[in-house]
Amino acid sequence: TSDCRVAVLGRAGVGKSALIVRFLTKRFIWEYDPTLECTYKHQTAVDEEPVTMEILDTAGQEETIHREGNIRWADGFIFVYALNDRQSFDDICSIKQHVDDIRRTNVQCILVGNKLDLLHERKVSTVEGEKLATDMACAFFETSASDGGEDITEIFHELHREVRRR
Ligand code: GDP
Ligand code: MG
Repeated sequence: TSDCRVAVLGRAGVGKSALIVRFLTKRFIWEYDPTLECTYKHQTAVDEEPVTMEILDTAGQEETIHREGNIRWADGFIFVYALNDRQSFDDICSIKQHVDDIRRTNVQCILVGNKLDLLHERKVSTVEGEKLATDMACAFFETSASDGGEDITEIFHELHREVRRR
């Protein structure tokens, strides 16, 4: 069994908790305590190989400044913005910079644009998301925690593959 520690980062309200809960339970929770910071331990299999994933759901604080201990702890990162919230997208660059400043090495990460169900409110185009992911040298997904689907599982599995590869 291999281990994989995943930290999920992004501005408050983008759906970090909703994505994690969807991955773990296949359910969508409309309201989730925004101040709660916790770690989930999850046994799963990625490409038929058993994996123990520890997933850190970060919360609140100053939007872009995540706790240093959390950033040192993780093997890989999921950076989340909401595609109907421009500010949350703009924040990703400074969050990534903050991580890079602490880690001082290339980190494995995935970029996620959440709330794809709110297409009529879209403020960030798919092309912009793709471009940022290219700059960050990482994979990119647009998804919806509320609609759910296989792609949310794929986000976590893909990050594990990236972490294993290095
Ligand atoms: P966090 O602060 O990043 O952990 O965000 P939450 O998971 O608490 O979600 C913040 C709000 O956005 C809640 O009201 C959720 O119900 C809502 N939300 C989360 N994901 C989605 C989504 O994919 N679509 C829609 N429409 N709402 C979402
Ligand atoms: Mg939360």
